[in-house]
Amino acid sequence: MTQLHKNRDGGLLSYINPEEIGPWGMYLEQIDRVTPYLGGLSRWVETLKRPKRILIVDVPIELDNGEIAHFEGYRVQHNLSRGPGKGGIRYHQDVNLSEVMALSGWMSIKNAAMNLPFGGAKGGIRVNPKQLSRSEIERMTRRFTSEINTIIGPSLDIPAPDVNTNEQTMAWMMDTYSVNQGQTSTGVVTGKPVSIGGSVGRSEATGRGLFTAGIEAAKKIDLQITGAKIIIQGFGNVGRTAAKLFDGAGSKIIAVMDHSGAVYNSNGIDISALGAYVDREGGVKGFSEADFLLGDEFWGLNCDIVIPAALEGQITKHNANTIKAKLVIEGANGPTTPEADDILLAKNVLVVPDVLANAGGVTVSYFEWVQDFNSYFWDEEDINLRLERLMKKAFEAIWDVSIQNNTTMRTAAFIIGCSRILQSRQLRGLYP
Ligand code: NAD
Repeated sequence: MTQLHKNRDGGLLSYINPEEIGPWGMYLEQIDRVTPYLGGLSRWVETLKRPKRILIVDVPIELDNGEIAHFEGYRVQHNLSRGPGKGGIRYHQDVNLSEVMALSGWMSIKNAAMNLPFGGAKGGIRVNPKQLSRSEIERMTRRFTSEINTIIGPSLDIPAPDVNTNEQTMAWMMDTYSVNQGQTSTGVVTGKPVSIGGSVGRSEATGRGLFTAGIEAAKKIDLQITGAKIIIQGFGNVGRTAAKLFDGAGSKIIAVMDHSGAVYNSNGIDISALGAYVDREGGVKGFSEADFLLGDEFWGLNCDIVIPAALEGQITKHNANTIKAKLVIEGANGPTTPEADDILLAKNVLVVPDVLANAGGVTVSYFEWVQDFNSYFWDEEDINLRLERLMKKAFEAIWDVSIQNNTTMRTAAFIIGCSRILQSRQLRGLYP
């Protein structure tokens, strides 16, 4: 970690607390780990350690009770060498600049590793949306969109859903941007409702891509998916879809953890019953067909596959040693710290990294963006087939690079992603 903060020269990046490694520190460590593999391109590597553009905005709204509340909003465009910015919008009480910067960096690597014609970006608002009414969330979303209006657009930067945002959030963003432009501009966001320019298959795409990556990874280590015992952290868009698909393939989802707690049933949890319960109660806690579990016990459960699909920094040096699984498939962005990566490698656990495992979402977002530009829409079978093809192709390419270089799949994905970004940087040259 010694050289982690070497580019902290008192400029804006020093805004991040150097005492805490945080998500941006994790990202920088991952870039340091890949640099020796970049050959002559490493001359340009500093490009990846500095976001191109950061916008921090004040988002004031009138609450339903007449009070005025202010929230801090962010949009970070990490790298635009390969195309417009692309990445989600997160609403969470812990959102901060370090997190949004890291998430934008991971988007750059992911889009390049998948060979999508996008740069990387991410945004968010530091807010607990569970404490706001629907109309307060709408006003906050619309004001935030107006504040970042100048830097987003179908060929500039295209937001999408992330934690605590969804199709409805994207509909409000698209409408606000369009009203400001004086014309309907469907391509400014992806993950919209299908009736206003969204793509079929988008809402399930991240979980579906994760499922494909998981099947491919299981083949490499001779793990049978039928009967495999799986634990999942996060039961939202990504975690729930992954649970449904693995359950359908004959795996047993033995534990699920979300913000409310964790539940466990050694015979396998009934995923549709749990889904109905979470829709009603807002979390897994209290689900009667499983036992309640303490957080520490969750990671050490006897299982074959772990799917972290909630937030970053969840598998750390404190719990990585307890993991019994042979395979970790990262649905969340940045769920495993670099120290935990080392521990899992030493234990011979295969980690399918976030920039590959959860890339199904941005891949179908890319399909949505292409369909919006053409005003011609594909059917779900076509979307799912194209998604599966791109996921398998990216998986094999990353696997091969990891074998050739004797590295983890994360470093291999970073080798491919960083090389593509830095080649673009080199070809385009510096202006002036
Ligand atoms: P979501 O809001 O639909 O669900 C988030 C889930 O995480 C919920 O079940 C929530 O209860 C749980 N959670 C929140 N805080 C938690 C905590 N402290 N401990 C345990 N669980 C907690 O979000 P999502 O879209 O499913 O995103 C989940 C992860 O996947 C994020 O890291 C996101 O960046 C990543 N991701 C999402 C997409 C997408 O298309 N939605 C694409 C790529 C990556």
